[in-house]
Amino acid sequence: MKLIILDRDGVINHDSPDFIKSPAEWIPIPGSLEAIARLNQAGYRVIIASNQSGIARELFDMQTLNAIHQKMHNAAQQVGADIDAVFFCPHAAIDNCDCRKPKAGMFEEISKRFKVSLKGVPTVGDSLRDLQAGFISGCLPNLVLTGKGEKTHETGGLPPGTQVFPDLAAMVTSLLKSSARPQPN
Ligand SMILES: [Mg+2]
Ligand SMILES: [Zn+2]
Repeated sequence: MKLIILDRDGVINHDSPDFIKSPAEWIPIPGSLEAIARLNQAGYRVIIASNQSGIARELFDMQTLNAIHQKMHNAAQQVGADIDAVFFCPHAAIDNCDCRKPKAGMFEEISKRFKVSLKGVPTVGDSLRDLQAGFISGCLPNLVLTGKGEKTHETGGLPPGTQVFPDLAAMVTSLLKSSARPQPN
C-alpha cells in the first residue's frame, strides 16, 4: 500500500492567519485537487493530518469542521480525487496533547489505522511543525512554498532531507516521476 500524508491549510487550500472557519473560507489552491487525483491514479492513498486549534479556541465547532471537510471531499470528487481519511488535532498548544504537530500522535494513529510503517512515506507541509512531525515518524519531508511555506523556507532549520517545491502540484509531478524510474536494488 502506498500512502502519502498531507497537511491541509496552505497545502491543499489557501491558508488564512484568521483560520479557515467556514466552508466559504475553504478555497483550493489551483492544481492541488488535480494533484491528489494524479496520486490516486498512481495508487496512492491520500491522508490528511491537520492541526485545527480553531476548535479549542472556539472559533468554529465540530459541525462546521465537518461541513468544511464535506466541501473539500465534494470539490475533490469533482476532479476525480479521493481523500481517504482526515486526521485532525482539535487542541490548542496549551492542552499539551500528543496529537498536535510537531508531535507525532496523528502520524502514529495513521500508522495504526492503515497497519503500515510510515518509514519512507512522503509527507507534505507548509510549516516546520508538519515536517518535524513527519520526520520523527519516519516520513520523507516535503516543504511547499504555498501557505506559510515561503516564511518557513526563509526561517530554515528544516529536517534533514527536506525537499522544497513551489506547490503540491509540483511535488506530485516530481514524486510520480521518481517512482516511475526503475529502483536500484
Ligand atoms: Mg499548513
Ligand atoms: Zn491534539
